[in-house]
Amino acid sequence: MNKVENTVDLKFLKKFSKDVTYNDWNDYKWQISNSIKSLDMLENVLEIKFPDNERKEIQKAIEVFPMSITPYYASLIDISNLKKDPIYKQSVASKKELIMEDFEMEDPLAEDKDSPVIGITHRYPDRVLFYVNPNCAMYCRHCTRKRKVSESESNPSKEEIQKAIDYIKEHPEVRDVLLSGGDPLLLSDDYLDWILSEISSIEHVELIRIGSRVPVVLPQRITDNLVNILKKYHPIWVNTHFNHVVEITDTSVEALDKLSNAGIPIGNQTVLLSGVNDCPYVMRKLNQKLVSSRVRPYYLYQCDLSKGISHFRTSISKGLEIIESLIGHTTGFAVPRYVVDAPGGGGKIPVMPNYVVSWGSDRVILRNYEGVITTYKEPSNYEGCSKNCNKCSRLSIDDFEINQTGIEKLITNVDTSISLVPSNNKRMCRREK
Ligand SMILES: *Cc1c(COP(=O)(O)O)cnc(C)c1O
Ligand code: SF4
Repeated sequence: MNKVENTVDLKFLKKFSKDVTYNDWNDYKWQISNSIKSLDMLENVLEIKFPDNERKEIQKAIEVFPMSITPYYASLIDISNLKKDPIYKQSVASKKELIMEDFEMEDPLAEDKDSPVIGITHRYPDRVLFYVNPNCAMYCRHCTRKRKVSESESNPSKEEIQKAIDYIKEHPEVRDVLLSGGDPLLLSDDYLDWILSEISSIEHVELIRIGSRVPVVLPQRITDNLVNILKKYHPIWVNTHFNHVVEITDTSVEALDKLSNAGIPIGNQTVLLSGVNDCPYVMRKLNQKLVSSRVRPYYLYQCDLSKGISHFRTSISKGLEIIESLIGHTTGFAVPRYVVDAPGGGGKIPVMPNYVVSWGSDRVILRNYEGVITTYKEPSNYEGCSKNCNKCSRLSIDDFEINQTGIEKLITNVDTSISLVPSNNKRMCRREK
């Protein structure tokens, strides 16, 4: 008996059709075409009956943002504890999605404003986000890109994809291309192969990353054929999206193993979600289990200000509490970096508990995770460097170009800036007059 037969009950399988087999179950195409999209099917599979008024509201929510749950992901729902179940909360539409708050936005991270061509968000100096597909195997109810994801009109045509690739070609500063969506791994093998070959043939592109929730919601998609395509384009990294320890099943670990064994480093991005994983101990277990599955926790995201997801938001202090209970308490690389993606488009901002307690002229006072307070005495004869980066002999590396921006510019002294001032600062405008 293979692993899958152990993990899913035949009775559950038969809910989808009478003559379904384990072979069907293991086929990702079967999973996709049998995904739960309607309330009727949902009620049948979960063995519940929503009251009429709730039914109407859930139906409304589905019309705003479609529901699609793979049979595999649905099989992880604990039917005996539905409304508290982390899988249920992430996948089943809720009337709470209809609540709109004033400060919520369609595009809180201004991904569209930072988009020079359709499909590309160019926010950081050396890397771009490239939306190759708006569809997902499972539509996460907490998705920050609800405005885009699932909409067939945001399905980029081959010409648009080509134009986006041309943009990358024309921008030699882009050394890192991050395929996103939607889910890039839902594209057909051949189409993905073509996109990857186009990008990897660009000389200045040093690495390709793929953001995908497939290992979590549709692990069957990680086929040998897919992995053989991916590994032609090394260095290729995959970032996935596990939010709770119950998502790490034998089947998903099998998919992760295939990727790892093909030499693909895997990272994980978790979203901090109220009622799902807003607990230091759930988070510790999740990250420990990721590490033992050879997945490196990468980011823990504060939930964005996207429309219809406010019921998933926690306070930032909850995130700090979680990080406090991870650092020092568990494996260093089981600790993700906690970030707030700046509303308005400033990118990811790391937030951390404070470990620096105080400074003296020659010492720094630090505290550790146990509350021990310690003194680091600074060296008395440390000279650092000339800070004249443009003429520094240490940088005799070919093509090394320094382009200092932001706070970095204030710290080094390549130019003479001593302050950063917003462009419409009133005081400065008066000076000009
Ligand atoms: C997150 C993100 C990236 C990648 O950022 P890293 O910190 O390098 O992982 C790139 N572009 C955009 C717009 C992003 O939101
Ligand atoms: S996989 Fe990502 S893009 Fe797709 S619905 Fe989930 S959060 Fe949104």
